[in-house]
Amino acid sequence: MADILIVGAGPVGLTMAAELARYGVPVRIVDRAAQATQTSKALVVWSRTLELMDRMGCTPAFLDAGLRAHAAAMRSGTTLLGRARFDDIRSPYNFALMLPQRDTERLLSLHLRSLGVEVERQVELAAFAEGPDGVEARLRHPDGREERVHAPWLIGCDGAHSAVRHGLGFEFRGSAQEDDWLLADIRFEGRDRPAPDEVSIFLHRDGPLVAFPMPGGRARVVATVGKADPGGARPDPSLSDVQALVDRRCGGDMRVADPAWLSRFRINERKVARYGRGRVFLAGDAAHVHSPAGGQGMNTGMQDAFNLAWKLAMVVRGQGAAALLDSYSPERSAVGDMVLRNATRLTDIATLSAPAAQAARNVALRLLLSLHTVQDRLANMMGEVEIGYAGSPLSVGHGAGARVVPEHYGGSAPGSGGTPRFLLFTDDVRRGTAVAARYPQLLDAPRKAVGPDRLLAVRPDGYIGLSAPPGDWDALEAYLRRLA
Ligand SMILES: Cc1cc2nc3c(=O)[nH]c(=O)nc-3n(C[C@H](O)[C@H](O)[C@H](O)COP(=O)(O)OP(=O)(O)OC[C@H]3O[C@@H](n4cnc5c(N)ncnc54)[C@H](O)[C@@H]3O)c2cc1C
Repeated sequence: MADILIVGAGPVGLTMAAELARYGVPVRIVDRAAQATQTSKALVVWSRTLELMDRMGCTPAFLDAGLRAHAAAMRSGTTLLGRARFDDIRSPYNFALMLPQRDTERLLSLHLRSLGVEVERQVELAAFAEGPDGVEARLRHPDGREERVHAPWLIGCDGAHSAVRHGLGFEFRGSAQEDDWLLADIRFEGRDRPAPDEVSIFLHRDGPLVAFPMPGGRARVVATVGKADPGGARPDPSLSDVQALVDRRCGGDMRVADPAWLSRFRINERKVARYGRGRVFLAGDAAHVHSPAGGQGMNTGMQDAFNLAWKLAMVVRGQGAAALLDSYSPERSAVGDMVLRNATRLTDIATLSAPAAQAARNVALRLLLSLHTVQDRLANMMGEVEIGYAGSPLSVGHGAGARVVPEHYGGSAPGSGGTPRFLLFTDDVRRGTAVAARYPQLLDAPRKAVGPDRLLAVRPDGYIGLSAPPGDWDALEAYLRRLA
């Protein structure tokens, strides 16, 4: 079996490579950069990503390295408007795991190495041509040498400026926001410094300032600093710029010290309409970029990888029909649209500039965040546990597409082993065993239903594929015939 070629070893490419390798699919992963990310970039690993990592078998290392944040508090100056408590997220991981992206990449690389795969660094995808049975790719090595490879599948995890997306000729539709943002990884000192285990959002008439706790007693500050200059980038901020913003927007006794990273960024909101064509796929920032509000970018990308990996593994291993792959783009593009909408909405609310609108917003937030249902909804949205695939071609029956709550597994999560298979939940285990014997490539040994009284076929990524009345074995057979 020839290697699947993965371009880009950011968090998304590493997840993709590790998942395919875990399923015994040979991969090659290349990255043009000499080394992995050295900065903190994406800071939050959310609940649903951690649940999916359980299947990879590497969650404990992440939990050990990260810091657990339990809430996001919104303030106007020193006045608390309200809190969204992550403790309410319906997941065993009911917190935001704060972990700098360099550590996420380091831990994913170690996990990948444990599966026998090394990232090939300073190797750049120069071009590729699509064919009926794969792609012909040109890889450029650091000594200038060009290598031609045939790969049965090409996966572009090569970030916002993706060469794979350009090669496909796909439009990255969207726009750049007008605001310029400051980013600072610092230490807070002083009596009123933000709590070390929650995200602190300060809404101010000049714009928002957000402080994220980080492991090791540090914090990340991001804040708007005015309209971006179309004529060129501003210089990186200094520590005193950060202190001036903190003084003005947060109030109280709060000092910043010991900067590790001072930078600026602009927010781009862009997405492709399709996540691939033929034997070429896109995942992560190559397919969607958006505001960091809500910290969803990396998480959404890693979940693209989880979604594609089991489908591709089943097809490559001859366990399932190629039609499985047709569900990747509609499922993940719908999620990308939703994440983009939510991130834009959050950013727009936080950056309202008219004083009357700001005052109305603060009153509304105070009221809404006092309601448990609103807090609960917000926390579960951020934790990404509400994501589902109801409209997917793979979802059949009432409630199909929903995530199966981990306590309903009644054992290890589906998809935890080295073979991707659907898991059947039924009250009639004897009959389920007979069906599983006829579709050994698709189905694991059935489990007694713990949750709703339905006949369920749960996908390797823990979402319900088929949901049928308890005795409707014909529906199950029809579903399996379609996937076989
Ligand atoms: C300041 C900042 C804060 C952020 N905060 C958050 C957050 O809190 N939560 C969150 O979820 N997200 C956050 N993000 C977004 C997050 O960093 C990205 O979504 C994430 O890095 C995307 O991962 P990726 O693997 O898709 O792409 P990348 O991390 O961009 O990796 C792409 C890789 O592809 C390689 N590459 C590119 N072209 C080629 C080529 N032709 N050949 C070979 N290799 C190539 C690059 O060298 C790179 O290593 C933040 C981003 C920034 C900048």
